[in-house]
Amino acid sequence: MTRDNSPTQPAAQEGEHFDVLVVGAGISGVGAAYHLTQQCPEKSFVVLEALESFGGTWLMHKFPGIRSDSDLYTFGYRFKPWTGPPIATAEEIMTYMGEVIDENDLDRHIRYEHKIASASWSGEEKLWTLEGTRTDTGEPIRFTANFLWMCQGYYRHSEGYTPEWEGMADFEGPIVHPQTWPEDLDYKDKEVLVIGSGATTATIVPAMAADCKHITVLQRSPTYFIPGRNENELADMLRVLEIDETWIHEIVRKKVLYDQAEITRRSFEEPEVLKQELLEGVRAFLGPDFDIGTHFTPKYRPWRQRIAFVPDGDLFQGITSGKASIVTDEIDRFTKKDVLLKSGELLEADIVVTATGFNLSVLGDIEFSIDDEPLDFSETVTYHGMMFTGVPNMLWIFGYFRASWTLRVDMLADFVCRLLKHMEEKGVKSVTPTLRPEDADMPILSWMDPENFNPGYLMRKMHLLPKRGDKPEWQHTQDYWTERHRIPAIDLDDGAFHYE
Ligand SMILES: Cc1cc2nc3c(=O)[nH]c(=O)nc-3n(C[C@H](O)[C@H](O)[C@H](O)COP(=O)(O)OP(=O)(O)OC[C@H]3O[C@@H](n4cnc5c(N)ncnc54)[C@H](O)[C@@H]3O)c2cc1C
Repeated sequence: MTRDNSPTQPAAQEGEHFDVLVVGAGISGVGAAYHLTQQCPEKSFVVLEALESFGGTWLMHKFPGIRSDSDLYTFGYRFKPWTGPPIATAEEIMTYMGEVIDENDLDRHIRYEHKIASASWSGEEKLWTLEGTRTDTGEPIRFTANFLWMCQGYYRHSEGYTPEWEGMADFEGPIVHPQTWPEDLDYKDKEVLVIGSGATTATIVPAMAADCKHITVLQRSPTYFIPGRNENELADMLRVLEIDETWIHEIVRKKVLYDQAEITRRSFEEPEVLKQELLEGVRAFLGPDFDIGTHFTPKYRPWRQRIAFVPDGDLFQGITSGKASIVTDEIDRFTKKDVLLKSGELLEADIVVTATGFNLSVLGDIEFSIDDEPLDFSETVTYHGMMFTGVPNMLWIFGYFRASWTLRVDMLADFVCRLLKHMEEKGVKSVTPTLRPEDADMPILSWMDPENFNPGYLMRKMHLLPKRGDKPEWQHTQDYWTERHRIPAIDLDDGAFHYE
C-alpha cells in the first residue's frame, strides 16, 4: 500500500513552519495526527515519514504470517472500534490505520518519503529546525516547529539484530532476518532453520511449516507462550445482543485490560502458580510426553519479557504434526550446509532465519543538538518516560511492553494537547523538564530496571537510553494501570516544568 506524494500531498516548501512537527507515521504518529485535529484544531502541524506510506512496523515487516501479538481491542485506538478477530494480520492493521487516515482527512498533514537526519533547538528563537532528505528525489528538506512530537518507534527500521557467529560467511544458503524479508524467498520443500524463540518465531514457524520440507526452531533459552483461540467471547456475545460497536470496543478494552492487570499482578505475587498455568497451556497442545521442561520452561519469572500469544496454538500444532521441531542449544559455528551446536549436534539447513531481535534506535537515529551543542540522550533523565531533562518542547512516544503500545499513544496525546493549551494560556514559548530541588539527591539509574523487564534489545543498548530516577514521575514505569490515573493528573505547574 503506497500513498501518493502528489497531488494530495502538499508540495514541500523551503523552510516551512508548523506549530507541531510529528516524526513518523506509524500507529503512534497517525494517532498523534488524529488527536491534534480533534483536540488542538487551531494548531498547524505536519507529520514527516521516511517511508512511502503510513504504518511503520506494519508496513515494513513482510515475513510470512506477520500479525500482532496483542489484541486489537487495546492495540487499536480508543476512538475507533475494532471489529475483527483480536489478533490481526499486518494487512488488517494497515486497513484499520488507513481508515483512520481517510475518515479524518489526515493525509493532507502527512509528508511521506521525508527522512529527518537532524533536529536542532534554538533557545533564542525557541524553535526546532529539522533537516533531512526527500528519499524519492534526494532533495534536502528543512522545517521549523515550536513543538516536536517524536513518534519514530524504538528500533532501527533498516536492519534487524543478527549476532555474529563463526563461519556465517561460509554458509551457502540465504541467511535472512525477518525485518528485511526478501519477498521472493523460495522456501518450498526446503529445510529451514529459525534461530530465536520470541513472538516472531511463534508467527513465522506455523506460517511457513506447511510449505517447507521441515522447519526447526533453534533457541538458546525458552520463552513463555499463551495459547488461546483467536476470538473474544465477550465481544462475540455483545454482537449477538446487537450492542453498538462503540460500546463493544469500550467494554472489551476494559475487560482485556482487567485480565492483563491480573496476569501482571500474579507475575509478581504468585509467579510460580502463574508459571505452572502457562506451562499447562502448552502441555495441553504438546501432550504429556513432550519435553516441556527443556523447551518451554523459561528460567525467568513470567512477564520479565513479553509473553507471546499463540492463536489457536498454531505453533504447537506444527510441532505435533512433525512439520516443525524445536532444539534448545547454543550455536558453535556455521558450516557450508549446517549449523553445528555446542552439544555436537549438526542441524542441516537450506535457509537460516535469524529471528534474533531488533537494533534499538534512540529517537530515529536523528542527531539532536541544543543551541549548537550535540545532545546525548543518555545524559538526560526522563520525565514519565515521555520528556527529558534539558530538552525543550519535545515529547516521544514509547509505549508499553506488558500492555498494548497504543494505549500510551492515546494517553500521551491527551497530555501533549493539554500542555500546548497550558503554554498558550501562560503565554510561554518553551517548556523544559527540570529536576526540582527535592530531586537533588535522587539516585539516577538506567532507563529500565532489569529485574522488571529485560529483553535483549534493551539490555544491549541501555547505555544509550535516557536515565530514570527512583520516583514514578522520573521513569517510564511500564505500568498502564497506574499511569492512566497519574498522567491525566500531572500538575503542569509542578516545579518539574521550566517555562520561558
Ligand atoms: C512484528 C512485530 C509485532 C508487534 N506486535 C505488537 C503488538 O501486538 N502489540 C504491541 O503493543 N506492540 C507490538 N509491536 C511493537 C510495535 O512496534 C509497536 O507497538 C508499534 O507498532 C510502534 O508504533 P510506532 O508508530 O511508535 O513506531 P513504528 O511502527 O516503528 O513507526 C515509526 C515510524 O517512524 C518513521 N521514522 C523513524 N525515524 C524517522 C526519521 N528519522 N525520519 C522520518 N521518519 C522516521 C519510521 O519510518 C516509521 O514509519 C510489534 C513489533 C513488531 C516488530
